[in-house]
Amino acid sequence: MYCRNCGNEVSEKAVMCVACGTPPKAGDKYCHNCKAETTPNASICMKCGVSLKNEHSMPGEGKDWLTTLLLCFFLGVFGIHRFYTGHTVIGVVQLLTLGGCGIWALIDFIMIIVGSFKDANGHILVKK
Ligand SMILES: [Zn+2]
Ligand SMILES: [Zn+2]
Repeated sequence: MYCRNCGNEVSEKAVMCVACGTPPKAGDKYCHNCKAETTPNASICMKCGVSLKNEHSMPGEGKDWLTTLLLCFFLGVFGIHRFYTGHTVIGVVQLLTLGGCGIWALIDFIMIIVGSFKDANGHILVKK
């Protein structure tokens, strides 16, 4: 594959491009498949049609799933799990409404269990 930042050829498992020093999939200037130049935010390569969406979230970006689950279970009505995952405004609202009288906290708890709860950056929670 090619570095998406500078177009240099890198190994599939490379965590860092030797030419420019960034994670190869972090860039948005080149197609990782055919090295064609791409426009930032393009979702597919105009030349080869490969998907350019960066599906591999960087390690450590997502919040810990178990921590969020436990926070929601014990302190969900205070919105603590929302503060933990970066949803500060929603956390304050849940704190003031006691987790929407517990219902909101319960919905969040279920979302965490089924794995559809996302942190404020849009990353799914990481199960370790
Ligand atoms: Zn590079
Ligand atoms: Zn391409």
